[in-house]
Amino acid sequence: MERSTNTIAWHALDTETVLNKQDSSPQGLSAQQIVERQKKYGANRLPQPARRSWLLRFILQFQNTLIYVLIISAAITALLNHWVDTSVIVAVVLINAIVGILQEGKAERALDAIKKMLALKAAVLRNGQRITLDAEALVPGDIVILEAGDKVPADLRLFNAHNLNIQEAILTGESLAVEKQIEAVENSAALGDRSCMAFSGTTVTSGQGKGVVVGIGVETQIGRISGLLSEVKTLTTPLVEQMDTFAKWLSVVIVVFAAFVFAVGYWLLQYEFSELFMAVVGLTVAAIPEGLPAVLTISLAVGVQAMAKRHAIVRQLPAIETLGSISVICTDKTGTLTRNEMSVVALATYGKDYEVSGEGYAPIGIISNEKQPVEQKSEEVLRLMGLVALLCNDSQLKKEANEWGVEGDPMEGALLTFAGKIGLELDSDKKEWARTDLIPFDASHRYMATLNHEHQGNAAIYVKGAPEKLIELCTRQQIDSENTAEIEHQFWEKKAEALASQGHRVLALATKKVLIEHTALTQQDVETDLVLLGLVGLMDPPRSEVIDAIKECYSAGIEVKMITGDHALTASAIGKHIGLHNTDRVLTGAELDRLDEAELLQAVKEVDIFARTSPEHKLRLVSAFQAGGLVVAMTGDGVNDAPALKRADAGIAMGVKGSEAAKEASSLVLADDNFVSIVAAVREGRTVYDNIKKVISWSIPTSTGEAFTIIIALMLSMALPITAVQILWVNMITAVTLGIALAFEPTETNTMMQPPRVRNQPLLSGTLVWHIVFITALFVAGVFGIYRYAIEQGYTIELARTMAMNTLVVMEVFHLFFIRNMYGTSLTWKAVKGTKMVWYAVILVIIGQLAITYLPIMQTIFKTEAVPFQDGILVIAIGVALFAVAETEKQLRLVTKKYRKANKAKAR
Ligand code: ATP
Repeated sequence: MERSTNTIAWHALDTETVLNKQDSSPQGLSAQQIVERQKKYGANRLPQPARRSWLLRFILQFQNTLIYVLIISAAITALLNHWVDTSVIVAVVLINAIVGILQEGKAERALDAIKKMLALKAAVLRNGQRITLDAEALVPGDIVILEAGDKVPADLRLFNAHNLNIQEAILTGESLAVEKQIEAVENSAALGDRSCMAFSGTTVTSGQGKGVVVGIGVETQIGRISGLLSEVKTLTTPLVEQMDTFAKWLSVVIVVFAAFVFAVGYWLLQYEFSELFMAVVGLTVAAIPEGLPAVLTISLAVGVQAMAKRHAIVRQLPAIETLGSISVICTDKTGTLTRNEMSVVALATYGKDYEVSGEGYAPIGIISNEKQPVEQKSEEVLRLMGLVALLCNDSQLKKEANEWGVEGDPMEGALLTFAGKIGLELDSDKKEWARTDLIPFDASHRYMATLNHEHQGNAAIYVKGAPEKLIELCTRQQIDSENTAEIEHQFWEKKAEALASQGHRVLALATKKVLIEHTALTQQDVETDLVLLGLVGLMDPPRSEVIDAIKECYSAGIEVKMITGDHALTASAIGKHIGLHNTDRVLTGAELDRLDEAELLQAVKEVDIFARTSPEHKLRLVSAFQAGGLVVAMTGDGVNDAPALKRADAGIAMGVKGSEAAKEASSLVLADDNFVSIVAAVREGRTVYDNIKKVISWSIPTSTGEAFTIIIALMLSMALPITAVQILWVNMITAVTLGIALAFEPTETNTMMQPPRVRNQPLLSGTLVWHIVFITALFVAGVFGIYRYAIEQGYTIELARTMAMNTLVVMEVFHLFFIRNMYGTSLTWKAVKGTKMVWYAVILVIIGQLAITYLPIMQTIFKTEAVPFQDGILVIAIGVALFAVAETEKQLRLVTKKYRKANKAKAR
């Protein structure tokens, strides 16, 4: 592959020379050129770091305190010639390593899929057409369009820049954005001074620009510095780390405790060394939850994948946990609650109001006044409005397979469609009125203006923006085809309100003629003699599925707040439609500014809709919600939303309309911008947390139950009801089957009917500790009970032990079915049916247990005997009994909780 020509000092050459040298033009490359260059230069990406080899991965699995303890135990049992025990322990270690590797594979696949979904996009001009493509597909000579919030996708020599500011900290360390321009600079200019260049990986903070690609992949400045993409993160969250540390400490405690048991047994109770040692090894191995860390990671990987399937891409893994505890979702309106499929449906001019018909983005439709179609071209005001819609516009309509769509902002697409319906020739009229300068749209000033020159020597400024803003800026209004008059503010404000209260997004269109010599556009130009032409009302239908999602939030104790840049009345109309609680009171950005902190804290509790807000308001609102003790999810799309997204507990960026800057500041990206996906992510977040809790609630009593069976027997100086090697077997067969199944549990029916989890709630809660004690006691009672029964029946000690071991396993299986439902009853068909994973696990366990009980060779190794049929039934009955007792206890607990809650509510 040939290298791109980045040894040339592109910054020192003028734009024309650069375009010539790249054999390109401001209209972009041809299809033929692109194919050739892709072959010649390859993809625009940095090399990936090499993956670790299987062998290395395998070896790394053994680096774990829990495993060290197991290996030492294996070595000592081997020294004592207890080969069966050694092999079972070695098998436990190996199976664990294999599960570890598989788990890593799953985690890696989950992360890879995410990386693909987050691939950088670039807007380019090819063959005169604006298209969006993966940044990897860029070739030298491509023309890239830059807008606020974009991440620069390759090294570019700029040939067009309007107020273009780029933050280059990753290259220069300078956190202030630098203003870009298009003139060549000194050959010797330092990187930070090459103001006519835009470098790959840097972020556009404001303005617009265009540049020609002069370096891709490793040939970019960032490629030369870093050479490689950064290493993939491992799948972990604070909670899992906490559990990891917990597991480590637990093993230390277990070893110390085992040593204590050994000492008591040896010196006080006078056990024979080898027998006692084996029993202690058995209890140690059983008590150590060696599979736990791996299973927790699997739970996370399953969660990440489940979220990705629901269009929520986790960028920062701790977000999975945070999402489960969200108590308020602050959401944008456009595109998140609504479809972002816009169409102009109403017009208001000084003299007349109009309706606009037509389907989708097809520029065909009828404009009528009082139900009578009008001859658009003959109405000069309409023609002028069409011109503003067409020229003060950066998007393009495209027709693919007979479907009209938009490349760029859907609202601008709707305006182009509208211009078409007015009767303008979209392509030729746009060419006729070449754009000379531009003030790009910015959420802080809420308008966009362009300066255009026509071939015949006319020049004009075209402005579109929020009605309040333009009504304030304009000094005149167009009253008919020829005449203008002084603006009547009240008239227009009423018109705008009438349109907004129907849920329409309202835009005002304005214009001003200027002299042909006028070639640079400034804010001042827009502030004098601007003529208001009229208003357009755009319809953006709410997403119908949002209504249910909001209901689900409410039942899950999650508040929903709409924070929009749109008009208060538009926001309120949409809010009503989608079922927000409080839609009568809307707080605007201007009103927010007037509130002090205490008033704000009160207001955010009562108000559900915040309109005409700017990104700074979002930041203030997040802080206010957090001060009120809420855990906040906040959506955002623009470059200026980044501080609020970072501040929120879960920052959520829009994948489709969101800027790269917003994505980088957020912990979650929505692939489809849809509010429903946020709720799905919260649901999955809760599920992951529940599953982690289930894994822990199952594993720990299982370990303690197994361990205490041995400890109690030792302490009571009685024969072990299950031998050490049998305990090792049970530990091995259940840990890798039953233990893992819980990581794949689906969401419980009642998960979204619980209030949000309190943040930083300790995992080992009082309830969990009680559960551990309770289940351990039941396990011990079950095992000793059946053992005693068997001995009393006159069975051999081997048969009694076989029955005790099988009882332990059966109880673990029933315990698993019990754990699957934390919030409701386990006695439903759905609960019994379980999941595929649960049944695979149970079937494996049954096969294992049948083998160890009935296969002669296994009977010799593990000293077991075939269990008679009726006793087999008894063993299963004990499992059923455990389930019944545990379920009754849970139901009593749930009922008491409900009763207490009701009492508390009454007392209030
Ligand atoms: P939402 O929260 O609903 O997504 P938004 O983020 O689209 O709102 P802003 O982008 O801040 O809101 O826009 C605020 C207002 O600015 C809009 O209501 C509209 O009147 C005006 N506006 C938006 N985009 C443009 C544009 N490209 N050109 C001119 N005016 C615009």
